[in-house]
Parts: sequence; structure tokens; C-alpha cells
Amino acid sequence: MECDKCGDDAVLHAAYSGLYLCEDHLCRAVEKRVRRRIREDGLVPDDATPEDPETWVIGLSGGKDSVVLTEILHDVFEQDPRIELVALSIHEGIEGYRDKSLEACEELTDDLGIRHEVVAYADEFDVQMDDVVEKDPEGMAACAYCGVFRRDVLSRYAEKLGADKLLTGHNLDDEAETALMNFLEGDVDQIAKHFDASLGPFADHDGAPTERTREEQDHHVPRAKPLRDVPEKEIALYARFRDLPAHITECPHAEEAYRGEIQELMLGLEENHPGTRHSIMAGYEKLAALAAEAYGGEDSEKDFGECEQCGAPTARDLCRKCNLLDALEAV
Ligand code: SF4
Ligand SMILES: [Zn+2]
Ligand SMILES: [Zn+2]
Repeated sequence: MECDKCGDDAVLHAAYSGLYLCEDHLCRAVEKRVRRRIREDGLVPDDATPEDPETWVIGLSGGKDSVVLTEILHDVFEQDPRIELVALSIHEGIEGYRDKSLEACEELTDDLGIRHEVVAYADEFDVQMDDVVEKDPEGMAACAYCGVFRRDVLSRYAEKLGADKLLTGHNLDDEAETALMNFLEGDVDQIAKHFDASLGPFADHDGAPTERTREEQDHHVPRAKPLRDVPEKEIALYARFRDLPAHITECPHAEEAYRGEIQELMLGLEENHPGTRHSIMAGYEKLAALAAEAYGGEDSEKDFGECEQCGAPTARDLCRKCNLLDALEAV
């Protein structure tokens, strides 16, 4: 088939839009959607100036999503002195997996001339994920531990690095899966939090949208996901065509069983009803804004105190991370 834009050989048929695209037009379409998302979310605030720039920390794992995110953000903001990019990678201590993907991160950030920080669980918590999986004091999936540690590292280091925003490489498939999981679990509170934590547009920028904007969070660096309009497959193709150093091996501990089921379901739905991921997100965003209106804001702020052990914001005496670390030590 031929590209609908230029007549060259098509490399992708995007069933949800009906378009056939060649390599070049596919890459341009991906970049365009990221730029539009940055604009619509109001990521660049009015008060960012070359003298007082914003710092954006990018969660860079070395997988295709975060590599593509870093590359595109660099292209968009390279000439814009209002935005400074810092890449942050995490070493979980997973034999034969993370070393390789960190090499990809090094290569990319060297290429682009972006500051790159690496934080290891071993240094921060004195644990390695391989040992955590072995001990498993709570009888949980590896990712449940890993996610708690990751969130802790990301928020502490985002603060340490002076981050105004924390950007991650979640794509359309990831977000639609999360949306569906929140629906199916009936977790309206979580949907409201999702809006204020990463989905809702920022208020402090020129031409702020008339719809609801997110509440400012006192306890967390605000997050954003500029790739969330781009399907996973297109990100993979982008990484390949732009010859980016993305690492593709899966983590040996990956076993988010429920998400796996949702993934299968979503693939089937998308195949039979192209555009399902987009329509889920369109509806979810509207509902999330309403849920945030009803559930978000002051009440969720009130609950926060400080963890007795580490000072992290938590609604309990000890934060979840300290709980897990105590449980691991007791084994
Ligand atoms: S797949 Fe799970 S265990 Fe592996 S790095 Fe990701 S969150 Fe951690
Ligand atoms: Zn073309
Ligand atoms: Zn703690």
C-alpha cells in the first residue's frame, strides 16, 4: 500500500484513523501528537523564562517508550531555554536486565547531551529486586514491591534535582489499560487521583483550557505523560526508524497478571473495533475530571502526614516503602 500523504511505501495502516503512512509520515505524526499533547496539557507555564527555566525530569528506563519520549522532548526543546531536561534512570538490581538497558540510556543521553542520573535500589534501600523476589515477605508480585520503591525514588530525586515536572513514557495502550482497570475495579477515588496526578491540564499557562484543570499537589511533583496519545506499536516503529538505542528485553520478574488479561482484552477489542483505546480515553478523561471535582482537592490533602521513619508523605505512621523494607529485613 501507499502512504496517504506522499505515495511512498506505507509501513503502517492505522486502522483507528484509516490512514496508511510511510516511515517519514509516521514519525512526523508521532511528533505532532506529542507536541499537541504538550500544548493541550499546558506543560510550559507562562512564568518559565530563559533566566528562570523549568526543570523537567524524564523517567528514562531505556525501553522504547522512555527513549522515544526523551528523543522527542529533546528535539522540541533543544532551542528553548525555558525548559531544562534531566534524565533519571533506576537500577533495580535485576541480573542480566537493567545493565543492558542502562547502556541504552547512557548512549542516548550522551548523544543528545542531556544530563543523566542513575539511582540504584542497592544504594537507596540496601536491597536488590532479585533478592526481594526471593524473600517475598508479603506474598506479592515483584512489581508490587518494585513500584513502591520506584515511586519513592522518583519523587525524592525529582525533588532533589529541582524538578518542576516529572515526565514518563506511558503510551496510549498503557493509559487505556489503566483506565479500564480503574473502571473494572470500580475505583472512582483512584480515577479522581489519576486526573490530579497526571491527566488534567495545568492551569498556569497562556490560554488555559476552559475545562477543569488539575489541583496543585502539595506532596508530589506533578507528572505528565506526553506520549499518551500514541499507540505502543507506533512508538516501537518510531524507535526503529529513528534508529534509537532502545532496549527491548522484558524484565524477568514482569508478572502483572491482571494487567496482562486487560492487555489481551484490549488487543481483541481494538482489532475488532478500531479506535477503542481512543474512545476509552476520551470518555475516561471527562469522567476523571468530574470525579476529581467531586472527590479530589482538599480532602485528599488533609490525610497527609509524614512517615516516622523517612519523612515521606503518607496517611499512616509508616509509609508503604518503610513497611516493605522492615518486612524484608525481618526475613
Ligand atoms: S517489570 Fe516489575 S519487577 Fe521488573 S522492573 Fe518493572 S516493576 Fe520492577
Ligand atoms: Zn509519506
Ligand atoms: Zn517511610
